[in-house]
Amino acid sequence: MISSDFPQPLSGMSTPRFGEVATFMRLPIERDPAQLDIALVGVPWDGGTTNRPGARHGPREIRSMSTLMRRVHHDSLVAPYELCRVGDAGDAPVNPIDLQDALERIEGFYHTLHEAGAAPLSAGGDHLVTLPILRAIARQQPVGMVHFDAHSDTGDSYFGGQKYTHGTPFRRAIEEGLIDPTRMIQIGIRGSMYSADEKEWAMAAGIRIVHIEEFFHLGPEAVVAEARRVVGEGPVYVSFDVDGLDPVYAPGTGTPEIGGFSTAEAQRMIRGLEGLDIIGGDVVEVAPPFDPSGNTALVGATMMFEILCVLAPAVHKRRNRMRRL
Ligand code: MN
Ligand code: MN
Repeated sequence: MISSDFPQPLSGMSTPRFGEVATFMRLPIERDPAQLDIALVGVPWDGGTTNRPGARHGPREIRSMSTLMRRVHHDSLVAPYELCRVGDAGDAPVNPIDLQDALERIEGFYHTLHEAGAAPLSAGGDHLVTLPILRAIARQQPVGMVHFDAHSDTGDSYFGGQKYTHGTPFRRAIEEGLIDPTRMIQIGIRGSMYSADEKEWAMAAGIRIVHIEEFFHLGPEAVVAEARRVVGEGPVYVSFDVDGLDPVYAPGTGTPEIGGFSTAEAQRMIRGLEGLDIIGGDVVEVAPPFDPSGNTALVGATMMFEILCVLAPAVHKRRNRMRRL
């Protein structure tokens, strides 16, 4: 029985899960962020993509596949919809033509969520969407970052001085003081680079980089222990680029790199983040046109649910702590 009066997903016991309008996790659409503790948001925008586009189609397909998610995490037994008010807050407004305008619109949307006290969990979009999200939620205090990706995304510029691409968001976020680089870990980094500068800059900034070779040497549990050590007690954001996974698990992405971690390893790592002071997260770079099977969107939806099941206890704990003050 559902004891909570919080928003609940449409029950598969009364409306089959293949029916009705697809929302994130079958939750109600809630446009008023004041009604939410956690806002599930789509960002249908891939204007920062440098090679194969398509992540703009991610949110809709992830919504569709997220109808396969049920209510309770099978391993941790976390039931996020009993801990928090979670809803589908719709899509952030975007502009498919003008990059700077898109960044401003996205930031404005997340600013409203943040002011209302709703923690965002987003489906991209390409990885540049993480920058306006951080601008909205990390201005007052730089955050820690657990970043799953094949790429460091700390390049400086592209194609003659373009500073804003999906290969540069973390460099910009660190320059803007939104991320504390000494509390940032990148997991899964591999693949050829345009130049060594990307890696050298990241290491000089103090980011802990777990290349895929080290990941396979240590294994997911030891890597998660290292992530917990690096990010410590403060607020932390979780950014999951699906290309961190091996392309056999997530072929529907713009910049695949072979030799990545598996979906099961990713799940073990996300579960290992339980207890951290997580303030939000995203799953980015799902590009459905490259995976007509839909599996990459299912992977994206499942990773969102995994992150939700570590985010909801953190939000719940923060709310109780504030209530006691
Ligand atoms: Mn990325
Ligand atoms: Mn990537």
